[in-house]
Amino acid sequence: MTSIKNKIDQLRKNILKYEYFYHKLDQPIVSDAEYDYLLHKLYNLELKNKQFITADSPTQKIGSNLSNKFQKITHFSPMLSLDNTFNVQGYLDFETRIKKFLNVNLEISLCCELKIDGIAISIIYEEGIFIRAATRGDGYKGENITVNAKMIKSIPLKLTGCDIPKRLEIRGEVFMLKSDFLELNEISQIEKNKSFSNPRNAAAGSLRHIDPKITAERKLMFFCHGCDFFSEIEKFTTHYERLMQCSVWGLPVNKEMKNCSNYTEVFDFYKKIEKKRHVFNFDIDGIVVKVNSLELQNKLGFNSKSPRWAIALKFSSLERITRLNSVKFQV
Ligand code: NAD
Repeated sequence: MTSIKNKIDQLRKNILKYEYFYHKLDQPIVSDAEYDYLLHKLYNLELKNKQFITADSPTQKIGSNLSNKFQKITHFSPMLSLDNTFNVQGYLDFETRIKKFLNVNLEISLCCELKIDGIAISIIYEEGIFIRAATRGDGYKGENITVNAKMIKSIPLKLTGCDIPKRLEIRGEVFMLKSDFLELNEISQIEKNKSFSNPRNAAAGSLRHIDPKITAERKLMFFCHGCDFFSEIEKFTTHYERLMQCSVWGLPVNKEMKNCSNYTEVFDFYKKIEKKRHVFNFDIDGIVVKVNSLELQNKLGFNSKSPRWAIALKFSSLERITRLNSVKFQV
């Protein structure tokens, strides 16, 4: 028992250190695959030894502590993480779980999207006007990055069209194009003898830069992948319809998405996207599968860290360490 406790403590210590470098300094010191592998290992150890689970364990927390550079904003509803899997069984378990929870045996309509490797933000519009933006932060409170987010050209400051709710929350991903990242690193290497490790970290550093002029220069981009209408009466019944409406109002929504009705269609979409992932001028690290019906999403709700109605199917990364080869996604 002591040796299991020691193993858990050591894993937590390493994971917290990696999170500090990743979230706080935007300078990861291990690959995402290495981090994911250690977190899964800790999760499985805790699952078998529940007496050692503590509220501050990395398996129970979202994101990281907030930076003092920005004011804090409390989210209207928590900005959670996503449950994830690298293998077919993990996905099938997700489907079984939701059907059991909902007590249904029929196929459930699913909306599949790209998993953009960026920084999650929330934007509040009131009467169609951009009011404020925040990072995900620790899931409950985020950093007020309103001024910086206004520098991102693809985020409209005013929505266009009709039926815009009084208050609208948009959630999505801020990211940097691979071509802009290469250009930025080239200049940064010459001028400062420094470079960013990947487009995600460059985007995070640029979005949370103390000088919004720098944010503007870095040419960040945005894709919307979720929203809340704050309305009792809503004409839409699915997540897909909501995103289509967001697009009509002028918000950028990625077109690579598909409504699927069974796991064969989900895996076909996964395989198609994995094949062409290098064609995209932005990084993706998998696909996200969401229960399409808003009513079913409401019934499924959330657990402490993620919604029960969604899962990320992650790609076996090119930088993946050899240990993970045994759990490679095979369909
Ligand atoms: P995550 O990045 O695996 O997934 C959750 C996020 O996906 C959401 O917050 C959301 O913003 C984003 N997302 C992208 N596309 C989406 C879409 N279409 N629909 C919904 N959400 C979408 O989990 P996380 O909790 O944000 O971060 C953990 C991840 O960060 C790890 O899996 C790891 O890869 C990385 N990380 C790496 C290190 C390191 O040292 N390398 C350290 C900490 C975290």
